Amino acid sequence: MKWLVSAIFLFFGFCLSGQQLRIGLLRDYNLNRITFSYNNAPYYVYGDSILIDTIFKNEFIETLKLGKRVLLKKGVEDIGDFERVYLVQDSVGSSITINCKDPSVKQRKYQDDFELFVGDSGISIVNNIDIDRYVAGVVESEGGVGWNIEYYKVQAIISRSYALKYKDKHAKEGFGLCDRVHCQAYLNMLRYSTTIDSAVQLTKNLVLIDGKDYLIDAYFHANCGGQTFEPQYVWNSSLPYLKTRLDTFCIYTKQAEWEKRISKTEWSNFLIKNYNYPIKDSLFNSLIYEFDQQTRKAFYIDPVLGIPLRDIRDKFALKSTFFSCWPEGDDVVLSGRGYGHGVGLCQEGAMKMAKLGYSHGDILQFYFPGANLLNIQSYRFYRQTKNDGF
Ligand SMILES: [Zn+2]
Ligand SMILES: [Zn+2]
Repeated sequence: MKWLVSAIFLFFGFCLSGQQLRIGLLRDYNLNRITFSYNNAPYYVYGDSILIDTIFKNEFIETLKLGKRVLLKKGVEDIGDFERVYLVQDSVGSSITINCKDPSVKQRKYQDDFELFVGDSGISIVNNIDIDRYVAGVVESEGGVGWNIEYYKVQAIISRSYALKYKDKHAKEGFGLCDRVHCQAYLNMLRYSTTIDSAVQLTKNLVLIDGKDYLIDAYFHANCGGQTFEPQYVWNSSLPYLKTRLDTFCIYTKQAEWEKRISKTEWSNFLIKNYNYPIKDSLFNSLIYEFDQQTRKAFYIDPVLGIPLRDIRDKFALKSTFFSCWPEGDDVVLSGRGYGHGVGLCQEGAMKMAKLGYSHGDILQFYFPGANLLNIQSYRFYRQTKNDGF
């Protein structure tokens, strides 16, 4: 992998410094009543474009859905109803606590500014957040705490690349990215790990691009089971920077192996009904429960039967498609490896590599062999010195 910090054409022409993202928060829930309380600095409250109030320590404001408008309350007092409500921080990096008054929704804390309006499913909360503070929250939400800094650097670069590539994915809903795993889990601001904060700062402005200078799809999964997979067998689209490769770093980790038993009847019914499995063929009849997968395959038994392993994984909720099986009594026994789709970065392998002393560059090169690491600010500086109007 060549590590680019110089002249290439990109298709995202902006400087990352100060880049803001618009994240839709609590998208799993239908919100009708929410309170906001300040944590470490006052927030200004705007109703449409008018400054309405300021929230100080020990104070909070409440918002309720009122038809297509947001009703603003302070204590028992109605302040007014507005099309849009904005909460704007007094000093950079301030945070606010969001409480939905619903026992099934945990209280959450986020930084920077907020915008509220009534969307299709209750009140929409949009967090206008600096990209690095967002990335730190995502890395902690997705990866947890207690890992080596080189692993966190990898996750930070992947998360930043994804955020920039898909920053307008939810534009129709009034924000850029959602806070669910659909985009990237962003369940809170960074709260516990100073190591994650350092990893984000030390990789500031770094993103992954492909050979044509586009931001890459930096897929990741929990454990590849000893071999990563090619995306065309999972999503029908191949990507030149993602090739299958053997991975010995993850094979002794906790998600490395699994086993499941499924009744023979359920197994054979699924294959016969959905794929016309040739049960009357004397050869295939005896093979229906037997499958050996030493290296990753895309189809069950033989490609000629047209039974994608990803379909079997979906149907039986398997941890991965990387399994072998055999009959035992009334069951078929599946012995599997890995957890997840297997494409791109293997998280447990990357954690192990970091622990063994590999750098974030080594890890990215191993799992994304056709991608390049780019410092987008250096690129911007280069373009300016060329004075070509970029
Ligand atoms: Zn999303
Ligand atoms: Zn692996």
